[in-house]
Amino acid sequence: MIPVTKPFLPLKEDYGKYLDGIWTRNWLTNMGPLANDLELKLKEILKVKHLLFVTNGTVALQMAIKALELEGEIITTPFSFVATTSTIVWENCKPVFVDIDENSLNIDANKIEAAITDKTSAILATHVYGNPCDVERIEKIAEKHNLKVIYDGAHAFGVEVNGKSIFEFGDISTCSLHATKLYHSIEGGLVITKDPHLLKKLAYMRNFGFDGPEKFAELGLNAKNSEFHAAMGLANLKYLEKIHQKRKLLSHRYDEKLRTFKARRPIWHSESENNFSYYPIIFENEELMLKCIENLKSYEIFTRRYFYPSLADSLPYVERKQLSVTDQTSKRVLCLPLYHDLTIEEVDMICRLLLRIQNN
Ligand SMILES: *Cc1c(COP(=O)(O)O)cnc(C)c1O
Repeated sequence: MIPVTKPFLPLKEDYGKYLDGIWTRNWLTNMGPLANDLELKLKEILKVKHLLFVTNGTVALQMAIKALELEGEIITTPFSFVATTSTIVWENCKPVFVDIDENSLNIDANKIEAAITDKTSAILATHVYGNPCDVERIEKIAEKHNLKVIYDGAHAFGVEVNGKSIFEFGDISTCSLHATKLYHSIEGGLVITKDPHLLKKLAYMRNFGFDGPEKFAELGLNAKNSEFHAAMGLANLKYLEKIHQKRKLLSHRYDEKLRTFKARRPIWHSESENNFSYYPIIFENEELMLKCIENLKSYEIFTRRYFYPSLADSLPYVERKQLSVTDQTSKRVLCLPLYHDLTIEEVDMICRLLLRIQNN
């Protein structure tokens, strides 16, 4: 069986060596030493000024929206994971969907201004598959209209634009460290901001708003992550380069073997490098794609229509809206298996099957 993704696991000893300390200290959660250490190490690796390790990428988005005190309308992308939209609604704001760019599959910056009204408070965009949004353009639009910017960087671990971390753009960026992501802490998320005041506010929010044991500074929730999750994050750091190299190798193999396959790839930001978090292809038509999905399934090879359907046209709690590029793209996009344990031979087999279906 070949799944579309498979969580990376370090050697059991790598994880185990953190457990002794947890037992000795009897400190299991609440910003413990391992969580602290993970934050310090991630700050250095990602080259960001401040970050907070939180329970997951969804809570990270909720905290970002809350900390920026957003209300009214938030301009966002319909081509993302459901959490990008659901957190907006959860925080009592209204998502306003703007169509995507057919090359990058990110929100089309050229279409943002037309969607701005006097109720717009922010732009929440996703770096889809880790491919950076047009961050310069979005920054200019936000400045001109006095809007806040949040980036959902759940896929963008390790991505840089012009040598600068992608997480340094916008007022707040978030990342997911979920088990299925490129780098993970089983469950986990990051909130990243350059602004020390926002950082402080977010840190209060993460811990019920406590400012000392008998004092409250903010409205808060519980977004603290545990020492056990931090331990997995720390154990996985050792493998970052290995994971990257393997995914790069597999992705290039797909590129090479699928040269004659009638599907295109998203076009990457010219000042940035792929982190190989996913291997998406965009078919010329849905019919061939569905045939491929079924055929691969008969060999126990699983792919995923990621993202499908459009968030603007499927959620029961938002007004339906058709957006031509998003609708056309989400119907024809498919992520092929990509994970650390996948072998070159398996990639070759998947490609052979795809070509056979196409040429039949
Ligand atoms: C995974 C993901 C999230 C949610 O992250 P969790 O850690 O699973 O809560 C949000 N946005 C995008 C784009 C994602 O892929």
